[in-house]
Amino acid sequence: MNTTSNTAEAIAETLYKLTELVPQNPLTSHLENYWQLMTDNYTKFQITTWGSLIAHEIAYFGICLPAFLFQFIPCLQRFKIQQDKKETAALQWQCFKLILFNHFFIQSPLIFGTYAFTEMFSIPYDWQSFPAWYSLAGRILVCAIIEDTWHYFVHRALHDKRIYKHIHKVHHHFQSPFGMTAEYAHPAETLILGAGFFIGILVTCNHIVMLWAWMVVRLLETIDVHSGYDIPYINVFHLIPGYAGAKFHDFHHKNFNGNYSSSFVWWDKLFGTDKQWNEYYSKTGGVARKSCKKE
Ligand SMILES: [Zn+2]
Ligand SMILES: [Zn+2]
Repeated sequence: MNTTSNTAEAIAETLYKLTELVPQNPLTSHLENYWQLMTDNYTKFQITTWGSLIAHEIAYFGICLPAFLFQFIPCLQRFKIQQDKKETAALQWQCFKLILFNHFFIQSPLIFGTYAFTEMFSIPYDWQSFPAWYSLAGRILVCAIIEDTWHYFVHRALHDKRIYKHIHKVHHHFQSPFGMTAEYAHPAETLILGAGFFIGILVTCNHIVMLWAWMVVRLLETIDVHSGYDIPYINVFHLIPGYAGAKFHDFHHKNFNGNYSSSFVWWDKLFGTDKQWNEYYSKTGGVARKSCKKE
């Protein structure tokens, strides 16, 4: 018993020493000022409910904005993945309306539950408990792996012929996705696939900022893979080994089969559900150019 506790203490001490070697966030003092301003002026209830709702809406539409603007920039059109399928104004308006419905009637009630969640699990929101950036990064990675696993198996199940037409068909309305389609889904799918977001949070959340940070990263990832564009060099997610990316998920919308994961390629590789993608990629590089219309 003593040996076990000594080993645990030694590991904890080594980890603590390692954290001292990690560079600190240079924006900490600015962040502290803004965070203190927020906690001095608003209650925990206001921050966790209205704050979370505002953070979600700003993050979703703020991240969608660049992908929305890409269609108006001629020099970026060569990076469009399905070049023969343009996002029309009518399609984008149709998407926007369902997104608003889902945000207000499905996601907002869930977001308003954040206060109860933080109370139940004693999740702090004060500056003194604010986690270090590397702690946030590690926890977000754990959340992403958990969400990706949930997403792979549940998404694959939603493609079962018996249930596909009842729920997941809505998301596949767009064969060539664009940023806003990331959350274009049947309300039941928003709840079922969305559960993967919360499982990681139940395991890792140590501060309200962890919830917000994971939400922003998850939105960046899902809007990126639905953007319809694969622009080289600017996307830092591609530095993560095994990151799926826009071409990978775009092919799922084009082909309907395979590539069921959300963030990483590992589960599809393991179960061979990326076979059609690999064949397509070896022929086209993952891009449906105008000259490849007959494919
Ligand atoms: Zn699907
Ligand atoms: Zn999709």
